[in-house]
Amino acid sequence: MADTIFGRIIRKEIPARIEHEDDLCLAFHDVAPQAPVHVLVIPKQPIASLSEVSADDEPVLGHLLVVAADVARKLGLNDGYRLVVNCGRDGGQTVDHLHVHLLGGRGLGWPPG
Ligand code: 5GP
Repeated sequence: MADTIFGRIIRKEIPARIEHEDDLCLAFHDVAPQAPVHVLVIPKQPIASLSEVSADDEPVLGHLLVVAADVARKLGLNDGYRLVVNCGRDGGQTVDHLHVHLLGGRGLGWPPG
């Protein structure tokens, strides 16, 4: 997988507001937040997109969701929140390193654009 801006954030080559870090993943605030809370949860291992995952990735994919829920609790999103994984061009993915968006702190419309 080609290196991305998220690879540089994982290696601490560029700064980010980190909310959580462990051996498998990193959670940090989005630089262009679309809601009062907008955190990205990313695996440390290089997975470009959800379209590339296999059964071997189930542990890390499950971990991303558990961490997202933990961060949501930590940030007080008691009225709810949304998790989004943009995949590929039609999905609106702009960074080719798998990431889960955690959005909350306001009512979110549905369907998304
Ligand atoms: P995507 O459109 O691929 O689903 O989401 C990529 C997200 O990464 C966007 O919400 C964008 O604002 C965020 N982003 C891009 N570059 C940076 C950066 O350098 N730092 C941080 N914290 N977020 C970034």
